[in-house]
Amino acid sequence: MAEKRDYYEVLGVSKDADDAAIKKAYRVLAKKYHPDANPGDEAAAEKFKEASEAYGVLSDPQKRQQYDQFGHAAFDGGAGGGGFGGFDFSGADMGDIFGDIFGDIFGGGRSRGRASNGPMRGANVRSAVRITFEEAVFGCEKEIEINFKEECKSCHGSGAKAGTSPVTCSKCNGKGKITYVQQSFFGQVQNVQTCSDCGGTGKVIKEKCPDCYGTGYKTTRKKFKVSIPAGIDNGQSVRLAGAGEPGRNGGERGDLLVEAVVSQHPIFKRQDTSIFSTVPISFAKAALGGPIRIKTVDGEVEYEVKAGTQTDTKVRLKGKGVPSLRNRNLRGDHYVTLVIQVPERMNEAQKEALRRFDEAMTGVYPEGEKPKKKGLFK
Ligand SMILES: [Zn+2]
Ligand SMILES: [Zn+2]
Repeated sequence: MAEKRDYYEVLGVSKDADDAAIKKAYRVLAKKYHPDANPGDEAAAEKFKEASEAYGVLSDPQKRQQYDQFGHAAFDGGAGGGGFGGFDFSGADMGDIFGDIFGDIFGGGRSRGRASNGPMRGANVRSAVRITFEEAVFGCEKEIEINFKEECKSCHGSGAKAGTSPVTCSKCNGKGKITYVQQSFFGQVQNVQTCSDCGGTGKVIKEKCPDCYGTGYKTTRKKFKVSIPAGIDNGQSVRLAGAGEPGRNGGERGDLLVEAVVSQHPIFKRQDTSIFSTVPISFAKAALGGPIRIKTVDGEVEYEVKAGTQTDTKVRLKGKGVPSLRNRNLRGDHYVTLVIQVPERMNEAQKEALRRFDEAMTGVYPEGEKPKKKGLFK
C-alpha cells in the first residue's frame, strides 16, 4: 500500500489553518474531482476520496487533535493502535459533515438528482444505550434491539410481485427526472424535477409484492451485541459496520452507530480520564491525622490523612481513574478533595469538650480572631 499523504498537504493548507480555510480548500478540490464532474476518471476519483478523507478528519476538532498528535496511526485501528478499530469518535455521521458542502456545490444532497440506478450505500442508523459510570470506566457488553430492515425474500428487494419485475417508468423513460421547458418573459427557463410516478428510481412496480407492500424490505426487531470499550465517554459512539439500512441496487449496508449515554454517579465526576470526588473528614481527623477510607471505582482504598490537614486539600490517587481509549495500559488518576466538616448539632458533652479545647488553645488564634493589640499607637 502506498504511503498515505499528510492530510494538510492533501488539502494544501497549513497546520494552523482555521475551519473556514479547511472548508474552502476542500470545496475547491471536491468541485474539481467529484465523480459527477469526472465520469470514469479513476485518478480523479482517487483524489476526491483522498481529499474527502482529509476533510473528514480535519473538519472535526476532536479527530483533528488526534491526527495532530498521532498522525495517520490515530485512525489505523490495526495492530498496536489499541482500540481505534471500527470506532466512531466524532459521534457525527460523515453524511452530516459533507452534507452542507455538497449541498453548496451541487444544489441539494449528494445522491438526489443523480442517476439512481447505480449502487447506493444504505444510510447509517443511530441508536443509544444507557450505561453506568462504572460500565463506561471498565467497558461492558450490551445487547440492543433495533428495527432492522432486511431485503424481502419474496421479491429479493425489487418490490414487485413474484413472477413480475419492475418496468421502466413511462413518464420519465427511466431517467427518474423530468425536464420542463417553460416560456417566460425572460426567455426559456429549464426546470428539472424528480419524476413523481417513480420517485426518481426510473422504474415502476405494476404489481406490488404482497409480502412487503412493494417496499422491497421487511422490518424485524433484531438484537445486536455491542461491545463498549473501557474508557468510553458520554456521547461517544460505537460503530457496528453493516448493521444500518440496506443499500440500493447492490450497494453495501450502512452502519449502526450506538451512542453511549453514561448515567451520572452520585459521588464521582469525570473529565476525560480523571475522576473527581469529595470526601468529608472530621476536624479531629484533620488536626490529628489518621487513616480514612476513600471510595474509588476499584473499591475502597485506605489513605493516611496527615496531621494538620487543611480543608480543600487535594489528594491524588494515582492510576485510580479511567483507562485511556487509546492505550489500555494507561489509566488516569482519581483526585479527592478533603473537606473538613463542622458538626451542625452537638450535645452538651460535645460542646463542653470543645469549650475546653478552645481554652487550651488560648494564644493560638487564627488570623481573623486575633485580639486587637492595644496601646500600640498612643
Ligand atoms: Zn417483497
Ligand atoms: Zn419516472
